[in-house]
Amino acid sequence: MDVVPGQKLNFKNTEIAFSYKSDAELNQLKWLFSLMNNSKLVALGSALTPLALKLHFPFVRRAMKATIFKQFVGGESLLDTQKTIDLLYRYNTLTILDYGAESKSSEAELDKVMEESIRAIEMAAANNSVPVVSTKMTGLADDALLIKKQAENKLSADEEQRWAKVVSRLDRICKRAHELKVGVMVDAEEIWMQDTIDDLVNQMMEEYNKSQVIVYNTFQLYRKDKLDYLKSSYDHARAKGYMLGAKLVRGAYMEKERERAAANGEECLINPDKEHTDRDYCNAIRYCVDNYQNIASVCASHNAQSNLLQAQLIEELQIDRKHPHLNFCQLLGMSDNLTFNLAEAGYNVAKYVPYGPIDEVVPYLIRRAEENSSVTGDMSRELKLIVDEIQRRKI
Ligand SMILES: Cc1cc2nc3c(=O)[nH]c(=O)nc-3n(C[C@H](O)[C@H](O)[C@H](O)COP(=O)(O)OP(=O)(O)OC[C@H]3O[C@@H](n4cnc5c(N)ncnc54)[C@H](O)[C@@H]3O)c2cc1C
Repeated sequence: MDVVPGQKLNFKNTEIAFSYKSDAELNQLKWLFSLMNNSKLVALGSALTPLALKLHFPFVRRAMKATIFKQFVGGESLLDTQKTIDLLYRYNTLTILDYGAESKSSEAELDKVMEESIRAIEMAAANNSVPVVSTKMTGLADDALLIKKQAENKLSADEEQRWAKVVSRLDRICKRAHELKVGVMVDAEEIWMQDTIDDLVNQMMEEYNKSQVIVYNTFQLYRKDKLDYLKSSYDHARAKGYMLGAKLVRGAYMEKERERAAANGEECLINPDKEHTDRDYCNAIRYCVDNYQNIASVCASHNAQSNLLQAQLIEELQIDRKHPHLNFCQLLGMSDNLTFNLAEAGYNVAKYVPYGPIDEVVPYLIRRAEENSSVTGDMSRELKLIVDEIQRRKI
């Protein structure tokens, strides 16, 4: 059931979901999602595109910009995103700016990502529809250093210096966000670096979340240990006198995490099946809504049942739908049926709007294409919604 009883919320309403798309745009979307539905094509594209861009094949860049980039990315620069921010806001939807840099390693590149994040915070402060920016530690620290910090906890003198710079980069971002009252969500990464990230984000929350939630950690509920970790993070926050920021996701790195655990003969920290992940995700939503006065949470999911559960709990507890501690979020270009129907019903909902030069966002675009492909040939969730709306419009 996709409807909250007695409430105006229906995730099957494709008219509301796609009202920002013209007939021509909708047909173009159908073509794009039909291509992505083909898993062999996606595998080939994923393998060849990075090389084609490196070799400067001009038509590849142009074709990408007009299609997959246009669908999932807000623009090549921060200023480019304003058009998307304004369009979303016309439909009561907020924006979370997300600079698409990941896997950086030189100190100059890492500093550049920090500066870009601070610029995004300053732009957010000037836009009342951009409450939060998102940041990835893999853009602020060399992956190898994050991994070593977790594995050994004993760094060389040079590594200690580089680590101090990592802490300082995140601190400068959170400090500026705190000054301007803009939120910062720190993405969750693979198991082998996540403990390091958790420790760092906890430090930032303790420093900057005293009177309102500025910093959010991300909890991946596909991990067996993360529901308990959410609860202990809350207990820790209460004991230390700060508020918890919790972005709830299922988690994006299941395959490689399972492969690595199997290769190393270690216990896998991922839940044994989807049902366990769904159960933990539901319980995390319940826990955050129950404690909403001291936890600011975000249901960051494309799963209709998860979004519906949070909406239902808000109704049951008679909490204001616009309470700043209860939020929903989807990625730009995906699950418009959830985003725009939640927005229409008056909930706090935002789109993650990634931006950056094409070469920088290729890994992100590949993840989106893979997510929308199908091995069995069935229509993807997104394609089915687009086809439904085309039929409804009779175009
Ligand atoms: C706004 C936003 C921000 C995000 N930020 C992050 C982030 O910082 N870090 C991150 O890792 N991910 C992030 N994600 C991705 C997210 O973790 C999921 O991969 C993705 O959204 C799909 O999950 P879903 O909740 O939409 O629902 P669904 O499509 O219902 O669930 C799919 C997910 O369920 C889990 N799953 C599937 N099969 C199994 C199985 N056999 N056993 C155990 N679990 C299984 C996996 O996590 C899979 O991705 C984000 C997603 C959104 C929408």
